[in-house]
Amino acid sequence: ADADGSRPRGHRLDMDGVRVRYGQTLAVRDVTLGVEPGEMLALLGPSGCGKTTLLRTVAGFIRADAGRVLVDGNAIDHLPPGRRGVGIVFQSYALFPHMSAAENVAYGLEARRLPKAEIVRKVEAALAAVRMESFAERRPRALSGGQQQRVALARALAIEPSILLLDEPFAALDRSLRLDLQLEIKRIQRRFGVTAVLVTHDQDEAMSMSDRMAVMNAGRVEQVAPPAEVYDRPATAFVAGFVGTTNRLYGRVEAREGEDYRIRLDAGATVTAASPRGFAVGERVLVCARPEQLTLRDAGDADPAAFPARLRQSLPIGPATIHDLETGASEIKLHEARRGAPPPPGPVRIAILPGATPSIFPEGETA
Ligand code: ATP
Repeated sequence: ADADGSRPRGHRLDMDGVRVRYGQTLAVRDVTLGVEPGEMLALLGPSGCGKTTLLRTVAGFIRADAGRVLVDGNAIDHLPPGRRGVGIVFQSYALFPHMSAAENVAYGLEARRLPKAEIVRKVEAALAAVRMESFAERRPRALSGGQQQRVALARALAIEPSILLLDEPFAALDRSLRLDLQLEIKRIQRRFGVTAVLVTHDQDEAMSMSDRMAVMNAGRVEQVAPPAEVYDRPATAFVAGFVGTTNRLYGRVEAREGEDYRIRLDAGATVTAASPRGFAVGERVLVCARPEQLTLRDAGDADPAAFPARLRQSLPIGPATIHDLETGASEIKLHEARRGAPPPPGPVRIAILPGATPSIFPEGETA
């Protein structure tokens, strides 16, 4: 297939024990990750966790100190970036300012010494795929940020890459443009069936764009799973915190109930929690709950699943209200649909919503 076709193509990408060191810094620590043909994998993690380094190693700008990068099972480590069949879209659009949109898209094709007529056809098709055909003759400075990024995407796709690498491609765009381009890239990636790796530090972006996300921390991958699984069953306290499971409570395992655990919170309530890991009865645990898994009750509420807290303030956020609370040493954020005026600051109780299952981790595990 080419840029105007809809025939899916997909190549498999493997990172096999990839290690990258900068002097004393071990930026990527023996990462093994496979990306299925046609899949979009998001590399998600905080600044400095090594996601850009890993992407640049796949692209060929950085040489791994150990491990291999393979496409369809063939090692590509010895190939320079231009011969790897990877298309890259960077955060900064990286278009040549003195060339038109069409010339920018043609650049990678000319480097491949394709016949002129074929280049013209592929450039037109690539610009059409990103809906930029009517801007072909414009220079980058006469295009908006979102339009420039579309041209950059067309340039990456025009070479019919085996693998599309997206390095924070939306970071420089404002919110509404970002959403448009996210939808557009997702649509194009699906239509072309191109295997893609997206680097982002934005959990919402990773969630909406990717088939699976790999959450990185300090050079390691802590979890690789579809977004819903990462959200519902974070593998570590770090992953839980990074995907917004920010409320941290402490307690002790009272009983095991099938796949779940009954936890006696120090705050004075009994809750049900889940974990992919095993815990013994009596063990101290960290309980992580998302702001929307909690609900506010009156101070006089007698539910044994509710625990006392102090409401510090309530802030309206669109159709919801964020309540800022404290219980013992824990700060709690609670997110509820807005209904009427919030209660005044002071003593309240907090309950876990029926059906919501917080995650538990060993007490000492840091986020
Ligand atoms: P960001 O989101 O800020 O780009 P990142 O997750 O992409 O972060 P990397 O840029 O891959 O992280 O950096 C990983 C680690 O390697 C960091 O500790 C960083 O300071 C270090 N590092 C990155 N590039 C270099 C370099 N050229 N020389 C030395 N250290 C580097």
